[in-house]
Amino acid sequence: MSLTHLQIKELLDENRHHECEGYGTDGICVRIAAIGDLPSRFGQFHVVAFWNNRDGKEHAAFVHGDVCEAEDVPVRLHSECLTGDAICSLRCDCRDQLEAALKAIGQTDKGILLYLRQEGRGIGFLNKIRAYGLQDHGYDTVEANLALGFRDDERDYAVAAHMLASLKVKSVRLMTNNPRKINDLTAHGIKVTERIPLIIPPNPYNRFYLETKAAKSGHLIDFNGKEHLLEQIDRPIVDGMTPDQIAEMDSAQNNGNGAGQ
Ligand SMILES: [Zn+2]
Ligand SMILES: [Zn+2]
Repeated sequence: MSLTHLQIKELLDENRHHECEGYGTDGICVRIAAIGDLPSRFGQFHVVAFWNNRDGKEHAAFVHGDVCEAEDVPVRLHSECLTGDAICSLRCDCRDQLEAALKAIGQTDKGILLYLRQEGRGIGFLNKIRAYGLQDHGYDTVEANLALGFRDDERDYAVAAHMLASLKVKSVRLMTNNPRKINDLTAHGIKVTERIPLIIPPNPYNRFYLETKAAKSGHLIDFNGKEHLLEQIDRPIVDGMTPDQIAEMDSAQNNGNGAGQ
């Protein structure tokens, strides 16, 4: 069962003049601006376009099934990565994470992928590519990492929480590999009933995740010594990791907030 025409009309009517004091320290408020059908290779979705009062970015929700007033809805937060999501760049694994999440959501009766338009961990596309360029020219990656390390996690969760509230989701099962993220979303008023680990299948390009010795100071180095910058909030679990490897990854994320420090 997906959203009905009546539900869509109600959501749009309610949001047309929505105002609130906003979520988080920035007081961010969003409105559902438009909703359309979106059949995809991962199943039947609705795409929901959001307006917000703060950053001029047009965030999106990809909704599978009837999520309004629903409990325990699987939810994944994904940050935009043009190079990874659209072009399948191998400098990051954003595309793998996106596909794994959409596939998992498409196979259940309902779920939501929030697509947050914050390229390069919120620093923007231009600065992200600057960081890439610095690395390519042999700079020590500290500078590049610093550039990508600046992100406003708090705002991510404020936006995400309001988007879920606008969709009238009652409680969520958060698809994340980082238990700390449950608290972040809860702090913004969303009831999280469970954590679902996001597990992606191994391939030649994410094999380096399986090398625990590569997980140093919160970022990862592959077999050729090339550093991979983390662009998503949390790192995937690759199918085949041992419990020890997963635990080590969790502790790196909780200490380092997922970014190079
Ligand atoms: Zn609001
Ligand atoms: Zn990426």
